[in-house]
Amino acid sequence: YNGPLEQVDANCWRIPRSYKPEMRVDGLIFANERLLDAIKKDQAPDQVANVATLPGIQMASLAMPDIHWGYGFCIGGVCATDPLEGGVISPGGVGYDINCGVRLVKTNLFFHEIQGSLEELIKTLFENVPAGVGRSGKYKFSPKEMRPLLAEGPSFVMERGMGVLRDLDHTEANGRIDDADPDEVSPRAIERGAEQCGTLGSGNHFMEVQVVDQIFDETVATAFGLEPGQICVMIHSGSRGLGYQVCDDALVQFRKVPEKYGIVLPDKQLACAPADSPEGRKYIGAMRAAANYGFCNRQLLMTQAREVFSHVFGRSWEDLGMEMLYDVAHNIAKLETHTVDGVTKKVWVHRKGATRAFPAGHPEVPEAYRAVGQPVIIPGDMGRASWVLVGSEESMRKSFGTTCHGAGRAMSRTAAMKLNSGDAVQRQLRSQGVIAMGQSRRGLAEEQPKAYKNVDHVVEVVHDAGLSRKVARMRPIGVIKG
Ligand code: 5GP
Ligand code: MN
Ligand code: MN
Repeated sequence: YNGPLEQVDANCWRIPRSYKPEMRVDGLIFANERLLDAIKKDQAPDQVANVATLPGIQMASLAMPDIHWGYGFCIGGVCATDPLEGGVISPGGVGYDINCGVRLVKTNLFFHEIQGSLEELIKTLFENVPAGVGRSGKYKFSPKEMRPLLAEGPSFVMERGMGVLRDLDHTEANGRIDDADPDEVSPRAIERGAEQCGTLGSGNHFMEVQVVDQIFDETVATAFGLEPGQICVMIHSGSRGLGYQVCDDALVQFRKVPEKYGIVLPDKQLACAPADSPEGRKYIGAMRAAANYGFCNRQLLMTQAREVFSHVFGRSWEDLGMEMLYDVAHNIAKLETHTVDGVTKKVWVHRKGATRAFPAGHPEVPEAYRAVGQPVIIPGDMGRASWVLVGSEESMRKSFGTTCHGAGRAMSRTAAMKLNSGDAVQRQLRSQGVIAMGQSRRGLAEEQPKAYKNVDHVVEVVHDAGLSRKVARMRPIGVIKG
């Protein structure tokens, strides 16, 4: 990227509106000096500028410090549009993996208690939790059952004993985005999703056993039920083939739509429709259904984790304290209330590789956490760390209640593969005390820690910029990957 970047403060850089004549607002990238060099290496900042041209965009086109190149919109991008000002909805601003997200499950086990069983635990997880591209799982839903699943999310599978109601209390939107429209999900998408619910998918998705390494905020950690040495399970997956197909279908349907509404785009990958148009509403209905499927997928993944732990430790999951901390999406567009230039209104917040981070007191924060703020779950990589953060008031002013979603890639999959073989990565991790098992050797190489930025550096920025605050740092001890 060779365009302009003006420093706003230690953690924020501006791409001025003057950079491209079609820009309606500035671009703002949250980053510090240390991360800036890596960010400038690809075209992601240019994508931030392109998004600033979208009709109805509010305040600024935003990017988080884990920004990197993505389809149309960068990963780590945030964009809010006002439907009353012709604001658009864009599939590229959500991403192919609709409601990709993370769930953190706690236990009452401590590291020293499980050290001896770790090998068996990870092996049993690997044998029982389906992973890998296109892989199907043990849960199969008929096309008829898919309808209520898409409309209701995890509450549908709960009737079948795959979870308990309190799991929903700790899921974003209670695991159910209202006004989802299963009729807008194509038969092909439904077919792809029918046998994949409860599977991890490709290599960036994972189930990881972690230890709470360090607490940064005692009060919030206590409210979240986290303490040093405690074992947790982090689950990262999305809406599998179903969500991918919904996005693909929408991009085909949207091909001529910008032209129809007189929307001129600097990049055709930004294909979009006014949120209140028939085309926009159809995509929104389908996207919401795919989001509900994503929550359901993570619910079934957690169910399998609970079963494996229960088998390995010979106690029920309830007895092992396997309660959810939280489940949060990082690829989604939602209609939310925000205050822009002193005016409170409903806007379509697109978060693509970005996480909602609502502050204490917000009505959408679960009651159990209302006094401290929404838990934010940030995966890092399988060798270094991951984080639990908490939403803060400042994010409402600066980023539509949003923070980062991960470490973000530092090199392409191809470059990572050339650096180390999957076997070498596995050996290296083992010498650091992490048991890593992957469905594909290649996947392990592509996903090696060096392929990602240091998540501690990314978290530093969102903490210092006030987008969310540090609560706990987690260290990996075992992971299964697609
Ligand atoms: P994405 O949704 O963009 O594919 O991934 C989100 C984030 O997950 C990445 O930016 C990266 O930081 C993190 N990540 C990818 N693989 C792993 C893993 O195996 N373990 C952990 N803890 N984090 C990972
Ligand atoms: Mn993801
Ligand atoms: Mn994903």
